[in-house]
Amino acid sequence: MATPAVEGAVVPALRAVLHRVRIAAERSGRRADDVRVVAVSKTKPLALIDQLYGVGHRCFGENYVQEIIEKAPQLPEDIQWHFVGHLQSNKAKALLTAVPHLAMVQGVDTEKVANNLDRVVSSIGRKPLKVLVQVNTSGEASKSGLNPSECVEFVKHVKLGCPNLVFSGLMTIGMPDYTSTTENFKTLLNCRAEVCKALEITESQCELSMGMSGDFEQAIEMGSTSVRIGTTIFGPRDYSKK
Ligand SMILES: *Cc1c(COP(=O)(O)O)cnc(C)c1O
Repeated sequence: MATPAVEGAVVPALRAVLHRVRIAAERSGRRADDVRVVAVSKTKPLALIDQLYGVGHRCFGENYVQEIIEKAPQLPEDIQWHFVGHLQSNKAKALLTAVPHLAMVQGVDTEKVANNLDRVVSSIGRKPLKVLVQVNTSGEASKSGLNPSECVEFVKHVKLGCPNLVFSGLMTIGMPDYTSTTENFKTLLNCRAEVCKALEITESQCELSMGMSGDFEQAIEMGSTSVRIGTTIFGPRDYSKK
């Protein structure tokens, strides 16, 4: 796909985000390269994704199966697609069939979803799929994600019962309105400590995906290794253009 001659507003917006990520990472004694920036492009047109691709960004996130199924095949194959947020178990097959090179599912929270993904990965013969387990850190019943107390058992299921999945860490959204508090981040850190102890893995083997547009710097300073940023890069979501 051709790169537009004129850079749109998304390119400076991405650069500003990457700069803020770098400062936050350095404040917490890490390097910017240690933090993945997933540009969440849901409801946004292909042209904007292509502009960021044109300046070298490769990591994009989508939150609706139907949308990623339509977009991914029209964009370069070396984009690292992350499905972010809750995935319905009956959509696993459609997702992986249309996006066979999907990099990661950030948001596995039921055995049914894990088992379906595991089965589909095997049946389409792709390489093992990285997954993050979604934790509900707000305590609100309406949110998807596991209760923190269920984390260890669920991660065991993924690691021992799903040979075609690669357990890669934990993710949280935070509050029901997509904001987060320090408490949400602390809860996810506690979950990681429990998971690492129970499964005898190191923290470096358990990513933390926390932090969105409103709070990614704080999340990075608390140890996040992956931030999911939509609005600050692409502007407000535009559901009418979906
Ligand atoms: C949309 C979305 C984001 C991005 O949120 P912003 O506040 O726009 O940065 C992050 N994570 C998930 C799961 C999302 O659906």
